Amino acid sequence: MSKSAGQMSRPKWEPELRIANPPPSLLVKYTRKEKDFFYDYASFIHKILQDPTVGKRLGQILDLENVRMNGLVDIRVMIFPARSFRGQANRVLHGSYNSTALQISLYPVRIPKDWIRWDGFDLFKQSYPNLSERKKKLLNEISESAIATLLHEIFHLKLGNRGMPRYVEESVVKKMETQYMSDWAETISGAVQRAVREY
Ligand SMILES: [Zn+2]
Repeated sequence: MSKSAGQMSRPKWEPELRIANPPPSLLVKYTRKEKDFFYDYASFIHKILQDPTVGKRLGQILDLENVRMNGLVDIRVMIFPARSFRGQANRVLHGSYNSTALQISLYPVRIPKDWIRWDGFDLFKQSYPNLSERKKKLLNEISESAIATLLHEIFHLKLGNRGMPRYVEESVVKKMETQYMSDWAETISGAVQRAVREY
């Protein structure tokens, strides 16, 4: 049986996904250990977002929401954390969408520098069975955060040209994010184990 036109146009998750080169001015602000850590972090997230089971679910969500973005949107995995919101040290940007450049940027979560130096520097360098429970949990959390942030920005992309007031769009996007981020634990845990196996 031949494929129907409907099946052929079904959106798949084949993103234009790349790790962004940080500017030299940012590189000098980090120690060797921190740089190693954040480069490993970015390459881990790059793997998670291309994992087949994660990709399948992302494709299903794009399908349900009728979002077509493959080949059109540049998705950048950023190496270093974004700066804090002005005057709010504990609120850090996790992602952004630039509608002019058709570009989504994903940032790592804020992780204490002391923890990276003393305990976390080998987070991405151990095989899964050797990881402490705390580190396994952290890998699941940073994966979930990257997927949630990506979906959040994709929903902005979907709604961005509808002329909603910003705060309305933000609350709709947050609701969609919450709705679609339930029940990911098993998918994420599988993807994490596949991603760390290569280290
Ligand atoms: Zn938002």
